[in-house]
Amino acid sequence: MTTLQNQAAVITGASSGIGKAIAHSLAEQGAHVVLAARRAERLQELADEITSQYHVEAKVVETDVTKREDVENLVKETKDAFGRLDIFINNAGVMLLSFLKNDHVDEWEQMVDVNIKGVLYGIHAGLPVMLEQDSGHIINVSSVAGHEVFPSSTVYSATKYAVKALSMGMEKELAKTGVRVTNISPGAVETELTDHITDGEVLDMFKDRSMQPLEAADIANAVSYAVTQPKSVNVNEIIVRPLHQA
Ligand code: NDP
Repeated sequence: MTTLQNQAAVITGASSGIGKAIAHSLAEQGAHVVLAARRAERLQELADEITSQYHVEAKVVETDVTKREDVENLVKETKDAFGRLDIFINNAGVMLLSFLKNDHVDEWEQMVDVNIKGVLYGIHAGLPVMLEQDSGHIINVSSVAGHEVFPSSTVYSATKYAVKALSMGMEKELAKTGVRVTNISPGAVETELTDHITDGEVLDMFKDRSMQPLEAADIANAVSYAVTQPKSVNVNEIIVRPLHQA
């Protein structure tokens, strides 16, 4: 296991759920963290928590990942503060589940913008820095829904299959460089993700869900496994789901 001491890690979607748990976990292992999302107040609270608990720096950069210039600025601020970029967690995402027949076309667009274009902007901004360093680690958060399609997950799954395709392409293209790529696919995790669903039929379906979801920290543990391997080890794919999730 390698230490993350003095590494600089960017986490998108750090204002809640999985991103917040990853930020804690990386900071606990010694990484300086750069926290990105739209809700800056939440990020500042997290930064204060982290700096009071661990001997690292935590920087807040308000970022909308659907805006290319925001993500470029995120990487620039990271480089200005730490002189490098070691880990980039493409985690920000939305899951606006709906049935196609209910035609939530604005939500389809939002998922494409955040889940696909947001990840692409992360690659666009972060990869050149890592290639110049000839070292770095990009983690793309896909989903079990990026491996299987469920009723109402059609468009969400399309975006998460896209994330998986991006990870697979990067893994091949970057194989001869010092940049590692991990695609991580969580099953159901207890977070705010389902709070934004508006399709009434999906909400009814969720009422009957009795399965115990994972905790965000379970996914942070998986990320931690990937980033602390020796530099010669490239963990390309991790799927983690709750015990009773089919
Ligand atoms: P949360 O809703 O708790 O967190 C989502 C995060 O994404 C928030 O920090 C939110 O921050 C951020 N975000 C959303 N839109 C934008 C945007 N335009 N720009 C910047 N940040 C944005 O959900 P999770 O923690 O569960 O989700 C994290 C990732 O995990 C997502 O990619 C999700 O698809 C994936 N995932 C989650 C699963 C689950 O069951 N929870 C299962 C499989 C995958 P803010 O609103 O402040 O901008």
